This record gives sequence, C-alpha cells and structure tokens, in this order.
Amino acid sequence: MSLSETDLTHLRRCVELAREGLEDGDEPFGSLLVDARGEVRFEDRNRVKDGDETRHPELEIARWSATHLTAEERAAATVYTSGEHCPMCSAAHGWMGLGRIVYAVSSAQLSAWRHEWGLPEGPVRALPIHEVAPRVAVDGPAPELEAEMRDLHRRLAEQRYP
Ligand SMILES: [Zn+2]
Repeated sequence: MSLSETDLTHLRRCVELAREGLEDGDEPFGSLLVDARGEVRFEDRNRVKDGDETRHPELEIARWSATHLTAEERAAATVYTSGEHCPMCSAAHGWMGLGRIVYAVSSAQLSAWRHEWGLPEGPVRALPIHEVAPRVAVDGPAPELEAEMRDLHRRLAEQRYP
C-alpha cells in the first residue's frame, strides 16, 4: 500500500511530536495509534532524557494497546511513527498483534545519516521491522518529510556530539 493524504497527515503529527521531544531534551521520535475508524487513540514521543533508554513511543503504544484495545482492534489499528521501529519496538508491536506500521524515515536512512555525520553505531542493531516482525504490513518512507526529519536528527547529533 502506498501512502495516502491521510497517512501523510498522521505522519506530520508524528514529526511534530518528534520536534517537541527534541526541544524538550529528548530524541526526535514521535508516534500515534489510529484505530479502524481513523481516530487517533494514543500518541507519545521519545522520553529517554531521564535515563530510561527504553522509553520509545512505539513501545508505549504497544503497552497502551494491551489494556485499551481488544485483539481485533489491535489488528485493525495503524501505528504511525516518525522513524521506523527499533528491534525492541518491532518485537513489542509483533507480540501485541498490532496492525500496519507507517514510518516517515527508515532505520536504514537514520543509520546512513549517523554514518555520514561520523557518529558511533548505536548499542542495538538497526534492523528493518520485517526482520523482527515478519507478518506486519509496513509502509514508508515518506520522501515529503525526509528533509525535516534529517534536520531534527542533525540537531540531535550536534547536541550529543558538539
Ligand atoms: Zn524503539
């Protein structure tokens, strides 16, 4: 499935959340869960600055879905995210049986930028979602949002490695 205008609208909100995260001292990642009726049910953004490095929005979404949605609702939901899920979040998404994922930029793009900027590899390997959760429908990236996301990650890199 390719990206629709509705997909792009939700992804733009993820980018806004990512920007809010960066401006609050966290990392630029934001995500939403949208139900089968198209309603945004939950949104969050990265919150790692206080030391819990697992506070990724996609993991919060998977946890939230465990207590707020039925298995059918989870399967019919779509998770939008500014950056492709890391392996931890892909696994949580897969375990909870959530539906389609749509991302603005891929892990491969993020890794390529880090490499280009001379940053060290992260502690967890960047794998495509399909390597971890092979049955999840995945769409992205969104070229329309690439420049904005690259700029947010560049600002993070400049803060972390001045
Ligand atoms: Zn993650």
